[in-house]
Amino acid sequence: MSITENIKTILATLPEHVTLVAVSKTKPVSDLKEAYDAGQRVFGENRIQEMTEKWEILPKDIEWHMIGHVQRNKVKYMAEYVALVHGVDSLKLLKEINKQGKKYNRKIPCLLQVHIAEEDTKFGFDEKELKELVDNSEFLGLTNVTIKGLMGMATLTDDMKQVRREFKSLKTLFESLKSNFKNLEILSMGMSGDYQVAIEEGSTMVRIGSSIFGARK
Ligand SMILES: *Cc1c(COP(=O)(O)O)cnc(C)c1O
Repeated sequence: MSITENIKTILATLPEHVTLVAVSKTKPVSDLKEAYDAGQRVFGENRIQEMTEKWEILPKDIEWHMIGHVQRNKVKYMAEYVALVHGVDSLKLLKEINKQGKKYNRKIPCLLQVHIAEEDTKFGFDEKELKELVDNSEFLGLTNVTIKGLMGMATLTDDMKQVRREFKSLKTLFESLKSNFKNLEILSMGMSGDYQVAIEEGSTMVRIGSSIFGARK
């Protein structure tokens, strides 16, 4: 199937309240252009340099989402244009995004990444760290970031019961934090292999790569 057909097929199954992020990391600009021509406007990348190169070339009505682990010294390259940073996993990083946001006179939309998977290689806050963060005065004083929601990645496993459990725990945490944040509306969870389960468990944003663009090398 072509990229265009894949997008159409996926969109047909997504409820209206769920946003599709087309994860185009490692893929050539021509693939993104095909997705763009099919109407897709939200793209996800996991390397700031690659995302910036694509941003420079492609039409300016694209929303660029940074979905990967963010290195603090690279935030400056995307601060002007990034539409949503999914992988915010420390106060230190948030302070750097805030600082760069100030330079461009914008409030940069961010998601706090939560560690929900069993494997401990994944980045993200745990529940206790999040609860501490929301009372932290330095955090509360940040003026140029907006916390729009949470992001999480489930364990890479065929055990869909476990995946469902992990998504459910993120959804519960998301609901419990709504009293702390007035702009909490995005729950970014679900990739090619598990997005249907994620949607059943309350996802509002799915990040889909290989099911649109094919396998990566
Ligand atoms: C690569 C990536 C995706 C997309 O993965 P697919 O399995 O190709 O859909 C989603 N989220 C993050 C954070 C990623 O790094």
